[in-house]
Amino acid sequence: MPELPEVETVRRGLAPVMEGARIAKADVNRPDLRWPFPAGMSERLTGARIERLRRRSKYILADLDTGESLLIHLGMSGRMLISGAKLGAFAHDHPAPEKHDHVVLHMDSGARITFNDPRRFGAMDLLDTATADAHKLLSSIGPEPLGNSFDESYLVQALKAKTSPIKTALLDQRIVAGLGNIYVCEVLYRARISPLRKANKISKTSVEALVPIIRQVLGEAIEAGGSSLKDFRQADGDLGYFQHSFDVYGREGAPCRTPGCTSAINRTVQSARSSFYCPKCQR
Ligand SMILES: [Zn+2]
Repeated sequence: MPELPEVETVRRGLAPVMEGARIAKADVNRPDLRWPFPAGMSERLTGARIERLRRRSKYILADLDTGESLLIHLGMSGRMLISGAKLGAFAHDHPAPEKHDHVVLHMDSGARITFNDPRRFGAMDLLDTATADAHKLLSSIGPEPLGNSFDESYLVQALKAKTSPIKTALLDQRIVAGLGNIYVCEVLYRARISPLRKANKISKTSVEALVPIIRQVLGEAIEAGGSSLKDFRQADGDLGYFQHSFDVYGREGAPCRTPGCTSAINRTVQSARSSFYCPKCQR
């Protein structure tokens, strides 16, 4: 499941091919993904120029010159493939169509963007750009963790009445946008806070310290995505997911990486999700 840094990496990969370009033709090869596509999606996209490609939480929004925005969600297994474009030193030829190519955008530049999603948990919709933030998928999402409205006083306020574990509170999209299981585990390790602690029992100082750590962890992952972007531009144009190394996520039983700590990483299940943490470093 792609998290915020992966979605931001895909957005950055698509931007040079999509921003400023016009959609010459849109192939919509089935009526739905997770939800039905909007009526007349192909016609509404055809001829539209993409003015801006932005991200809100884990959604990519392509603002069109028609007053509508194309919302894209990658779901569990969605991939974006760029072909017919020259990126860096490498040209990507159009590949043969594949089985799960559900939507294909033919850009007037000759480039092609293919949305392939075998499990079909992804989504696409068309919204009025002016009221996009009020769309049902976006309206209850909290502040962007890398944006200005997410700061120390906001987080202190948001957590002070939360009796749920801090892990669960940080996964709550109404509190902060786009944080998923992997990066919450990493953030809590770096903050030395146990995922089991109740959010409202954590000191103000520790909650305040979470803000720069969240920014740092996401920032580093986006940077790692940027390097992988270079690789897939050079490889086959497939904006897939990158793997980078995590300090605790997926490391159950492995030694803690904190210098001097001899403990092993534990795994426990909270709200049906695995939490990885060091029982010694995280209190
Ligand atoms: Zn440790």
